[in-house]
Amino acid sequence: MKVVVLVGGVGGARFLLGVKAALGLPAVGEPAEPSEHEITAVVNVGDDVWMHGLRVCPDLDTCMYTLGGGVDSAKGWGRVDETWSVKEELAAYGVEPSWFGLGDRDIATHLVRSRMLRAGYSLTAVTEALCDRWKPGVRLLPVTDERLETHVAIDDPDSGDPRAVHFQEWWVRHRAEPTAHAFVPVGASEAKPTPAVLDALEQADVVLVAPSNPVVSIGTLLAVPGFRDALRATSAPVVGLSPIVGGRPLRGMADACLAGIGVDSTAEAVGRHYGSRRDSDGILDGWLVHTGDRAEVPGVRVRAVPLLMSDVDATAAMARAAFDLAREGR
Ligand code: GDP
Ligand code: CA
Repeated sequence: MKVVVLVGGVGGARFLLGVKAALGLPAVGEPAEPSEHEITAVVNVGDDVWMHGLRVCPDLDTCMYTLGGGVDSAKGWGRVDETWSVKEELAAYGVEPSWFGLGDRDIATHLVRSRMLRAGYSLTAVTEALCDRWKPGVRLLPVTDERLETHVAIDDPDSGDPRAVHFQEWWVRHRAEPTAHAFVPVGASEAKPTPAVLDALEQADVVLVAPSNPVVSIGTLLAVPGFRDALRATSAPVVGLSPIVGGRPLRGMADACLAGIGVDSTAEAVGRHYGSRRDSDGILDGWLVHTGDRAEVPGVRVRAVPLLMSDVDATAAMARAAFDLAREGR
């Protein structure tokens, strides 16, 4: 089976562990024998940023470290057994930004990536090269090779003047506290999905939308011109999983993002925001919500199952429920 999963960072990476397990693959790493199943993750790049001359790709790295067994599982991102000497030295120089923590081990990844990008390799090729080491057992594809960064329109916390900041500055530095008036995918108009992404969607047997942030993870994928059309055109069923459980996002501040685009933090509102492939210009055929949550999404098959990714087994059960719903067709 060829499975394509649309993902952001922590939520997406955790979900991918369950997709692998549901297909009988080891959650972490590669199977000993080549598998008949092929999982491709289309990963958000809107969080990517240049920091101290290094290209940082938080969502790609979170997926790579999680699936390759290198993640700090307590935090859900970054490298396990990380040290922070470079950060301390940068602080001693007084250079900004000081609010973004680059760990020493993590920096090696960014050094390799930045060097390859400057030498002219695409982000797709760089990611493949980095994955040679990590062997995530999933093909990780950035949605686009063009530079695309999410910026957030806010009122400056000090001056009150309207201002646009990089998503990371809003999310990490300001903890998503200033009200987001809009999310702008800077560079999107010139971006296009990579040929590998378009090919994966066309060849897919099933497409899953991970319970990732609907605005700044999945929303940014959909902002790449041509991506939504390719998703709507695939012959594979498309099933999404709600990141909102009991009216609240789990582990994160997705509600601050949803408020910024005028969507309620409910499984129903997010399902309707994604919309039906059949009856509207949406992206879904099926929508999984958490047991006890109710959702009516016109033109979409909705089912309630437990959606808490408490461990790999629970997450694999979510993936199996998504496959079951997909099997019921478009
Ligand atoms: P990020 O890029 O690191 O923010 O990660 P993602 O965008 O991939 O995922 C973040 C989303 O995952 C948040 O909006 C959470 O609501 C959602 N999430 C985290 N844990 C769970 C879980 O156990 N179940 C469900 N359904 N959603 C979850
Ligand atoms: Ca992210």
